[in-house]
Amino acid sequence: MPEGPEIRRAGDRISRALVDKEIVKSNFYYVRIKDREEIVKNKNIKEITTRGKAMLIRFKNGWTMYSHNQLYGRWTVNLNTTKIKSTRALRVVFKTKKHTVRLWSATDIDLLPTSEEHEHSFLKKIGPDVLNESCSYKLIEERLTSKTFHKKKASTLMLDQTVFAGLGNYLRSEILFDAKIHPDDRPFDLDKTRITQWAKSIKNISHLAYKTGGFTVSKYIADRNKENGEPRKSYRHAVFMRYQYECLNCKSRIERKWYGKRKLDFCPSCQIQTGKIKPSR
Ligand SMILES: [Zn+2]
Repeated sequence: MPEGPEIRRAGDRISRALVDKEIVKSNFYYVRIKDREEIVKNKNIKEITTRGKAMLIRFKNGWTMYSHNQLYGRWTVNLNTTKIKSTRALRVVFKTKKHTVRLWSATDIDLLPTSEEHEHSFLKKIGPDVLNESCSYKLIEERLTSKTFHKKKASTLMLDQTVFAGLGNYLRSEILFDAKIHPDDRPFDLDKTRITQWAKSIKNISHLAYKTGGFTVSKYIADRNKENGEPRKSYRHAVFMRYQYECLNCKSRIERKWYGKRKLDFCPSCQIQTGKIKPSR
């Protein structure tokens, strides 16, 4: 599933093709926005930004197209001359003199005035985007230790989009491993130093994944994992999809836990549960 870093990279790719370029043609095939398509049809684009897993395409005329790809939506950027073969449902097309940008399959698409973005049902309830520069370590620490969130499990906090926007399955496992936090521990169970480390891991691991296109370990480690015969889905991570392999730190066997239908991979030796072993006062 695409998480914040993948959506932001898609946003960067689309920006390069569309922003400040002349839109020679655009089409909106999706029924939910059909009634408003004339407002933005063939209009030029000012900027493209992301909020967690949502993308915002802002037109120069003061309107915004909101889209959320969930599990199945997909953006493609091609030269106009490229022949496209796809069985997916086409939702939106933007065409410049050089490129054609297409949104496929997504079902969560909306058109709204840019000035009303903050009132959008999804955007108004999500937390700060961990990839945004304005989301500091300090802000992350404050949220983790706030009355609203401090008694929720790490496994819950690292997926809940109202806490932080942009985290998903692989980032959850990788962040908690990097910070050495057990998935059942809560901010309430941890001292200041460990909260600080957790906040740093949230930001740093997300940023690394954004920069590298989904890698949450260094190139050196990824190459070594690969040489050991690991497939792509696991060699680019430290624990996620590595549950049958050895921990990179301590050589313990990586374990898997399920929370609902979402898997979480972790090292039982590096991520010791604090909450359970803490003596009661
Ligand atoms: Zn370990």
